Amino acid sequence: METAYERILKTLKNKPAKSKRFAKFNAHKLQPHDMKARKCTRCNRMEGHIRIHGLNYCRECFREVAPELGFKKYGAEA
Ligand SMILES: [Zn+2]
Repeated sequence: METAYERILKTLKNKPAKSKRFAKFNAHKLQPHDMKARKCTRCNRMEGHIRIHGLNYCRECFREVAPELGFKKYGAEA
């Protein structure tokens, strides 16, 4: 889907000075809560992100790396 920002930028295509100025002041900056701002440092996946303890892994990378990091699985083993 086209955002309002992209739509306006398209109309200013033939006005380089105006479009440059528009982009400078209206471009979306990634906020801390944005999904794209958080990526897995191992595989760049955005879903299932684990931030706790500054891990910044996705859930699947965490599963693979957890034993090496010292995480133990308690409870009934399958
Ligand atoms: Zn990952």
